[in-house]
Amino acid sequence: GSIRVYCRIRPFLPGQVSSSTVGCIDDGNITIITPSKSGKDGRKSFSFNKVFGPSSTQDEVFLDTQPLIRSVLDGYNVCIFAYGQTGSGKTFTMSGPKNMTEQTQGVNYRALGDLFNLAEKRKGTFVYDIAVQMIEIYNEQVRDLLISDEIRNNSQNGINVPDASLVRVASTMDVMELMNIGHRNRTVGATALNDRSSRSHSCLTVHVQGKDLTSGNIIRGCMHLVDLAGSERVDKSEVTGERLKEAQHINKSLSALGDVIASLAQKNAHVPYRNSKLTQLLQDSLGGQAKTLMFVHISPESDAVGETISTLKFAERVS
Ligand code: ADP
Ligand code: MG
Repeated sequence: GSIRVYCRIRPFLPGQVSSSTVGCIDDGNITIITPSKSGKDGRKSFSFNKVFGPSSTQDEVFLDTQPLIRSVLDGYNVCIFAYGQTGSGKTFTMSGPKNMTEQTQGVNYRALGDLFNLAEKRKGTFVYDIAVQMIEIYNEQVRDLLISDEIRNNSQNGINVPDASLVRVASTMDVMELMNIGHRNRTVGATALNDRSSRSHSCLTVHVQGKDLTSGNIIRGCMHLVDLAGSERVDKSEVTGERLKEAQHINKSLSALGDVIASLAQKNAHVPYRNSKLTQLLQDSLGGQAKTLMFVHISPESDAVGETISTLKFAERVS
């Protein structure tokens, strides 16, 4: 169908000492070992369209994402989500690690690079226009991440987020610069102890317009690359005030997203788009002819087994 679910397991980080909860990976199947007090460990198996083990490279992950990304140039709408608890590798998959090299670049840089290359190859038959928006959703409020004076001057109106800056891009360099601006704007107000990025959704939207030089027809496609807020449950007894509010908003929007994708997967007549900002914004790109890819991320360490199981259950529900 048009909904695919991939699971990616983060490797152990340098210095991390723990046993792994991941028992066995076999193509699209994964077995999780759940420790039990009575001695005999439990085993739970889950199936996905694809499982990427801890040694999978960014190259390998991108190879299985590329066809979906390319369909944007043919006029499809595409959503790619990164889901998982904080620290499980969502940002690594979508953007890359902190000290990025060409090899460790994530899906969003590679996607834009690939679109530019393909557009260049087709230039005898198509002329493409590519523009991006970057927003953040925090506590159900949308914030434009590309606001700066120099950008404001040449921005037009967007399609899905009418008030967010839409910036034309012509090269991977342009995209890199914008991502840096977006990243800077995102961290304003966050402190080391209060890293807001794990508690907000960030969305890079790529708008593509292509003109068929033979027929004169215009095609439009759009792709959303979404790094979701951490899915971990917070212990309500320990959380108060601002943190509790954030947790409730995250909970609400992630379950609204799960509800929408699950009802699309089941081909339900009613799809509950209105229940969160995220699903409202992405409504045109979820369902119908649109294509969806959910990357679910899990951490291998045994401390995380509770969150790992709940992440895999979420994924099972939407596939
Ligand atoms: P999240 O965005 O889900 O909170 P991050 O992407 O920030 O998680 O990953 C947490 C840490 O693990 C980072 O230091 C990141 O570079 C590292 N990491 C995540 N996934 C991988 C991977 N596949 N290979 C190597 N390091 C990874
Ligand atoms: Mg992150």
